[in-house]
Amino acid sequence: MSETLIDEIKQLQKEKNAVILAHNYQLPEIQDIADFTGDSLELARKAKEVEAAQMIVFCGVRFMAETAKILNPGKKVLLPAPDAGCPLADMAKVEDVVEMKKKYLGAFVVSYVNTSAQVKAVSDVCCTSSNAPAVVRNVPSDTVIFLPDKNLGYFVQKQVPEKKLIVWDGYCFVHRQFTFADLKKARELYPDSEILVHPECNPEIQENADFVLSTSGMLKRAKVSQAKTIIIGTEEGLLHKLKKENPEKQFFSLGPARICVNMKKTTLEKLKNCLENEDNEIILEDEIMKKARNALERMIEYV
Ligand code: SF4
Repeated sequence: MSETLIDEIKQLQKEKNAVILAHNYQLPEIQDIADFTGDSLELARKAKEVEAAQMIVFCGVRFMAETAKILNPGKKVLLPAPDAGCPLADMAKVEDVVEMKKKYLGAFVVSYVNTSAQVKAVSDVCCTSSNAPAVVRNVPSDTVIFLPDKNLGYFVQKQVPEKKLIVWDGYCFVHRQFTFADLKKARELYPDSEILVHPECNPEIQENADFVLSTSGMLKRAKVSQAKTIIIGTEEGLLHKLKKENPEKQFFSLGPARICVNMKKTTLEKLKNCLENEDNEIILEDEIMKKARNALERMIEYV
């Protein structure tokens, strides 16, 4: 059944001249069928580079597909699971960001890419978990409104103490589930392992891990690490790529596997239907796209 489905998707992809992009947290079968997998920054770059293909099918959550559309507005961008949102992105509402800007006049608004297109449009610049410290360090303002993830804000403030960060009170439900007890237990069970955690994890986890890294940073670290066992404090989907790229090493989740239900909404079935019907297209107002694109493109200037 699955083999037939895979063949059908490949056939449709050819007929429709489509590129399939998938986030590192997607289901293994989706990662395997994609033309390219990566974190949000890598996928944004890839989406921008798409030239010959007529459409981009984005296997991820809504803000990522919106980012692809903003960076490559001439392409049709489809989201196979239209209800795949990001609760973290939803924690920053555009009207609240506008109020915050009025309160802290002159402060630079740095938005993590995990925000809606509307929030990006009222931000000065965007950042990702890989480049957030560099962006904050280089913006031309001593005060920065940083949104929406407070744990990433904590991580950035530590790296860039010379700036004053006003940090939004948002968090990722998935990364917030990692506990200090998980970490302590992992150290006891695997004393020679290396523990890599994402900056969306709580400060206590960040402080006691070996490295705090984005998912692309984890993939790079896993390749060069001398440790034979690596424990990962991020969404469990990353394990698929880590194991594929490093078959000689062992990888485990920190504590029980933590799952982002939104990332898992994209199935082969939905991908096939989306390609077939060309539905669930990302449509954004031109003005919003223009402003959001400025914030995204400025990110490159500051890294
Ligand atoms: S893992 Fe967290 S930040 Fe990423 S999409 Fe899921 S809820 Fe959003």
